[in-house]
Amino acid sequence: MFETTIAGSLPKPFWLAETGKLWPRWKAQGAELDEAKRDATLLALKSQEDAGIDIVTDGEQSRQHFVHGFLEAVSGIDFDNKVKMGIRDNRYEAMVPQVVGPLHLRSRVHRADAQLARAHTNRKLKITLPGPMTIVDTVADRHYGDRAKMAMAFASLLNQEARALQADGVDVIQFDEPAFNVYPGEVNEWGIAALERAAAGLTCTTAVHICYGYGIQANIDWKKSLGEHWRQYERVFPALAKSSIKQVSLECANSHVPLELIGLLEGKDVLVGVIDVAADSIETPQQVAAVIGQALRFVPKERILPCTNCGMAPMDRAVALAKLEALAKGAELARSMYA
Ligand code: ZN
Repeated sequence: MFETTIAGSLPKPFWLAETGKLWPRWKAQGAELDEAKRDATLLALKSQEDAGIDIVTDGEQSRQHFVHGFLEAVSGIDFDNKVKMGIRDNRYEAMVPQVVGPLHLRSRVHRADAQLARAHTNRKLKITLPGPMTIVDTVADRHYGDRAKMAMAFASLLNQEARALQADGVDVIQFDEPAFNVYPGEVNEWGIAALERAAAGLTCTTAVHICYGYGIQANIDWKKSLGEHWRQYERVFPALAKSSIKQVSLECANSHVPLELIGLLEGKDVLVGVIDVAADSIETPQQVAAVIGQALRFVPKERILPCTNCGMAPMDRAVALAKLEALAKGAELARSMYA
């Protein structure tokens, strides 16, 4: 009961990449960079195991950014000529690569990370991939001329990689779809269909992560504009409940999401965000257990997995490690309270 996991990313060590940034520059190149990524991946696994996290990830140590890390293996994308584009409905600007032709996977994307992680942990292993809608929202389209069509093209590449990850022994494949909170109309029109295309044929556990973003200033400002009650999930969850995706990861800690909305996810495992990634204060086990207790009013206990609100990539490393411990201790306390 209350198996713990994280949304996906952990901060990178200072010797691997710039710290505190969403698009950090690597500190090494070539073979040295590969070695540093491997070392950091092993540390990420060990940190989660030591903290007591049950379903661990590679900490996304090998990707510069959760979307562009996937795109680097895709042909049909011009990475050399990035353009500035407003993303997430113009919430903030990013330098994004351009889609200039038909999309194909040039090679495996996360084989090295997944196989390394699989060889070095006996715990359940989760690997995350960006969801099709979020990818579409983080590239400039010069070829398809239609977001839904381009999403389906990305979905079939994601599916190729996801099936290969499953064959590598990965237990959970999670698609990150923060864009689901921004374009609920499109989610219902084609977003969930594209997500299901990405997950087609998988027999391992499938998950989707939908959040209000990393704890960066643009997101903090956006959240302030959303009012007292954040009801974005309400427009997405009913269709998601009918989908084939098994788990939904969402944010609850320090959030203005009315918690009853998680009751719309009937039949799904719910990865309840009990750790705030936008604040450096460390949650107490009591606080974590309290959020789990609130979620229990709407989701049966066997379907609750305590988790972080979002990825911790841009956070301070010591803070992130302390939050991992708070997550595991809080879940342990909740087991004793609600068993
Ligand atoms: Zn997130």
